[in-house]
Amino acid sequence: MTMHEFLHQVSAKNADQPEFIQAVTEVVETIWDVYESNPQYRKAKILDRIVEPERVIIFRVPWQTDSGEVMVNRGYRVEFNGAIGPYKGGLRFHPSVNLGILKFLGFEQIFKNSLTTLPMGGGKGGSDFNPRGRSDEEVMRFCHSFMLELFRHIGPDTDVPAGDIGVGKREIGFMYGMYKKIRNEATGVFTGKGLEWGGSLIRPEATGFGTVYFAEEMLKTKGQSFDGKTVLVSGSGNVSQYAIQKVNQLGGKVVTASDSDGFIYDPDGIKGEKWEYLLDLKNVKRGRISEYADEFGVKYFPGARPWSIEGQIALPCATQNEINGEEARTLIKNGCICVSEGANMPTTPEGVEVYLDSKILYGPGKAANAGGVATSGLEMTQNSMRISWSREEVDAKLHGIMKAIHQQCVTYGKDGDFINYVKGANVAGFIKVANAMMDQGIV
Ligand code: NDP
Repeated sequence: MTMHEFLHQVSAKNADQPEFIQAVTEVVETIWDVYESNPQYRKAKILDRIVEPERVIIFRVPWQTDSGEVMVNRGYRVEFNGAIGPYKGGLRFHPSVNLGILKFLGFEQIFKNSLTTLPMGGGKGGSDFNPRGRSDEEVMRFCHSFMLELFRHIGPDTDVPAGDIGVGKREIGFMYGMYKKIRNEATGVFTGKGLEWGGSLIRPEATGFGTVYFAEEMLKTKGQSFDGKTVLVSGSGNVSQYAIQKVNQLGGKVVTASDSDGFIYDPDGIKGEKWEYLLDLKNVKRGRISEYADEFGVKYFPGARPWSIEGQIALPCATQNEINGEEARTLIKNGCICVSEGANMPTTPEGVEVYLDSKILYGPGKAANAGGVATSGLEMTQNSMRISWSREEVDAKLHGIMKAIHQQCVTYGKDGDFINYVKGANVAGFIKVANAMMDQGIV
């Protein structure tokens, strides 16, 4: 079977899942050479098996609003591949969630987790529940109902969920509380827990910090750094907040942040009390990014994304497919030399082609944002050992892991002077999982 025949088969089988097909296509196109040159993989049908989740759980989540209305959402957990460890990946609560989105995220997670150097399989889950505008009590009732079904499928050695879009410390607290009540055991079944109840220092910061550490490694290959650079960030949630903080610490200036309604442009930089305001606005008041513009008298662009602003580094940290081909071209025309993806698959295939053709430094999400799940792995280790490491210890381990991921990308993606980080990440992530699957037989 040729690569095109294989991809055609995947597309036909999953015709209603465009994001999943997009993710599979990107991986298969970059690893096909490795697949072809290893006949044992072909014989064992590794690719046919790797694109099929080991298990998908879909369930009803009934709950009641504050006014007593009964609501019904759909819950999911995709246990995609457990060859190298327990399934590991976040839960997303967003109205756009469907099986195809979660399969794309779970598929990406297999390779990302493999790259972290830690023993974690790939999984993802969530619901089409929209926490926006819901009271804490409503969110609690939803989370409890969600967990009343999910608890039977997860466990510290089976499947360990974490947060993602719409799922932060509040939601994890409610879900973990219910899990603990049902199971009567305090195990590390979730990561991203609060510090007082088993969480790890640096886990909230990890994805954002890691994305910046990865960009720093890429910049070093060109003798460059963040110092004095103008940086564009999208999103204003967990990943964005700590990416902004780390850029500030490294001497860069972040001039944009966004949410699903628009973006703000602050030419003086989102730093100091402005950064603290952003955290309070998004994490405590749960307000909109437009309020930042009102507060500090900067420009707000409703319904737009920040990629038309001039900057040398772009850190997309909101959601999938938020930079298209045209926006990628605009970025490069405006002097962008480095894109490090905090979000999962934020660039469309056309956009990725633009980056690769113009040979800028481009770190795809599965490498650049792997610091989050890596630190989740460190949280699991601390829970198992019943100890807590200091901020400095966890940060140093995270930094070391991001450097190791960068090195794997260089090893497998170097092409003369150019480093193709997409190829490097996919090949390095794939080989480890494929070899583990070979060792374990046809299961
Ligand atoms: P949050 O929910 O904390 O923040 C998400 C941000 O993105 C919000 O500003 C949100 O705006 C915005 N956003 C969400 N959906 C859209 C959309 N359709 N269009 C425009 N903006 C949107 O999530 P996280 O920061 O945790 O996650 C952000 C990205 O990072 C996701 O792609 C996630 O998969 C990825 N990621 C997260 C990790 C983690 O550890 N949290 C780990 C690795 C990757 P609004 O408030 O309006 O919804």
